[in-house]
Amino acid sequence: MDRDIKTLISEMTLEEKASLCSGRDCWFTRSIERLGIPSIMMSDGPHGLRKLPGEREDLDQNTSIPATCFPAEAALACSWDRSLVEEIGAALGDECLSENVSILLGPAANIKRSPLCGRNFEYLSEDPYLSAELAASYIKGVQSRGVGTSLKHFAANNQETRRFLADARVDERTLREIYLASFEGAVKQSHPWTVMCAYNKINGQYCSENKTLLTDILKKEWGHEGFVVSDWGAVNERVDGLAAGLDLEMPSSGGDGDKKIIDAVRSGKLPESVLDAAVERLLKVILRAASNLKKDTSCDRDAHHLLARKAAGECAVLLKNDGELLPLKKGGTIAVIGGFAKEPRFQGGGSSNVNPLRTENAFDEMIKMAGPGTNIVYAQGYRTDKKSGVFTSEPFRSQSDTPDQDLIREAVKIAEKSDVAVIFAGLPENYECEGFDRKHMMMPEGHSKLIEAVAEVQENTVVVLSNGAPVEMPWIGKVKAVLEMYLGGQASGGAAADILFGVVNPSGKLAETFPVKLSDNPSFLNFPGDLKKVEYREGLFVGYRYYDAAQVEPLFPFGHGLSYTKFEYTAISADKKEIKDTDELHVSVSVKNTGSVAGKEIVQLYVRDDKSSVIRPYKELKGFEKTYLEPGEEKTVVFTLGRRAFAYYSTEKKDWYVEDGDFTIMAGRSSRKIEQEITVHVSPSVPEHRIFTRNSTVSEVLAVPQGRAYLEEVRKSIFGEEGGAVPSLDEDDPTLAEMPLRQLMTFNHEAFNEEKLQELLEILNKG
Ligand code: BGC
Repeated sequence: MDRDIKTLISEMTLEEKASLCSGRDCWFTRSIERLGIPSIMMSDGPHGLRKLPGEREDLDQNTSIPATCFPAEAALACSWDRSLVEEIGAALGDECLSENVSILLGPAANIKRSPLCGRNFEYLSEDPYLSAELAASYIKGVQSRGVGTSLKHFAANNQETRRFLADARVDERTLREIYLASFEGAVKQSHPWTVMCAYNKINGQYCSENKTLLTDILKKEWGHEGFVVSDWGAVNERVDGLAAGLDLEMPSSGGDGDKKIIDAVRSGKLPESVLDAAVERLLKVILRAASNLKKDTSCDRDAHHLLARKAAGECAVLLKNDGELLPLKKGGTIAVIGGFAKEPRFQGGGSSNVNPLRTENAFDEMIKMAGPGTNIVYAQGYRTDKKSGVFTSEPFRSQSDTPDQDLIREAVKIAEKSDVAVIFAGLPENYECEGFDRKHMMMPEGHSKLIEAVAEVQENTVVVLSNGAPVEMPWIGKVKAVLEMYLGGQASGGAAADILFGVVNPSGKLAETFPVKLSDNPSFLNFPGDLKKVEYREGLFVGYRYYDAAQVEPLFPFGHGLSYTKFEYTAISADKKEIKDTDELHVSVSVKNTGSVAGKEIVQLYVRDDKSSVIRPYKELKGFEKTYLEPGEEKTVVFTLGRRAFAYYSTEKKDWYVEDGDFTIMAGRSSRKIEQEITVHVSPSVPEHRIFTRNSTVSEVLAVPQGRAYLEEVRKSIFGEEGGAVPSLDEDDPTLAEMPLRQLMTFNHEAFNEEKLQELLEILNKG
């Protein structure tokens, strides 16, 4: 195949090659009939297929073909379930095949830096490991069907404000450990056919023209063999982009891109070999994709609806459940309150907006499930908005911004007379859409005032939230239970009913921290930046890495989620006490279901470097497993940790590096509930080759046995034997430890002078 492609390229004219590097229209690549090169279609993604029947973008939601709307990525991530995500990926792949779509534009793996980012509902997590693992599973699933994916938006596209121009200023280590790591794992594990470069700049350079990003890191270092496509309209200067590794411009450039490429090759500004390499990458994917399309492929959309419902149930997070108010008991009267109960909010706005095949609302599903012995009454509670198109025309405005006192009074009246009140609330459609960020983290007043008023008269109040990102909950102390459904897709109404009545035991856990208030978030002072740039000054301390380090108590921590049963953790063990960083370490922990119903627990594994020469987060997620347990059942969950679990990115070495020392491995039910821990010693397989100089410190020298012996002699001749005010040679004692070697000469020239300094350096540098 490769040879054929090379032959094909040799038969192409310069014009034909250039033409392949930009789209035919909004969704298709160009065909070259003379050579039998077909055109293939790309469509959004990520949580459903948004295929437009025509060739152009259309912002009316109803013009895209009906498709299954699965839970949005923000919800999906809370499942922490690789196989579920893969199963959904495969279903999405089937929907693509049945519609002749060759590449699905997803998954999106940008890190949730601020809760305000308008597209957080499309992103997976604040943690790069979780995000990369789930993005990898999604890609695996879709591509198992012979359909490509487009891992997006590469990279550091963490806000919508000025998204086309914003310059994300991120230090190299943070970029590597947080923002790129989220893509790296997915690229290396699952080989997406395409990667979509982001609109924004990173450190002054557009992602679409960033050779370090697109070629050096993505293609060379991570081994990405597919093509790189621009986000729609992300191309600045086409030739600079091509030279940096941007293979395909989307949508069509109307011929301008071709002309620039042709001129650049003809004038010698762009070597033709660069164009040929891009064309080769494009052809590999295009030919493979086209050969996978078969006529009359159909897919089972009823099965997909059921999968969407199962998934929404797996993703929901039970945040609070005082007095085990949930699951609801049948019988008596249940007040169902809030417009979302009948008009579900289940996906975000923008390019990912799917025209759902069908939807389920929680109210109808609850009635079906409760049966005749239970009286279910309803009140709307707040004003609802008219449905927007794909993109909202009223950013951040909702009818429910203003509380409607009549609707609230009506809700209070039915709540008072009921045994329990279930309020469906959250964020309205216009609050969460591609293209703008939220301005604050509050729910509309119409929702929050309703909750407070109902909770005032009904002690058994449950809040069911539909939102794509965290909200502040000033009312949290007044309600007994909170169920976070996120944006759970077309079947989220049914899934909510399943959980409320205990048909499904909740098992989702948060893939992001819910801060008490927005200003607790580490990016608060630098989001969304100023007109030209946004500085990522919190550095590595994104999400729980910050809340841990700064000891800020979150409302709900990363990894939190309750169940209708209880789990007990015991017996953590590791198969070795000491390893080299090239070894694998197997860590196991036992988990037992000690409650009375079956359930699933997500066991999380965090790693901390106990002592490091660089600043590192207090702990970082390096493993997770979701496990199903019958009542009384106990299982051993085993994790495999490799080098990366212990490494940090060294900007000096330009590589990942593991420092010699002890590491604590923690197994927990959330980032704040560590149940078991164990310590192992890890040493680097390649000892660090350090060059010692006259400015190396005493403590650095003490770390080397020959250095320690030499300095011990020097110390004796300077200060005499022990006793009195003789300073110790203890690397933790700052008196001497932080001194550069040259400074020792000032104590006693006889004992330590230039000659001795050179002698010591020679010993040290000989290794
Ligand atoms: C979005 C992408 C999307 C593309 C095509 C862009 O505006 O950022 O996520 O895939 O449009 O609709």
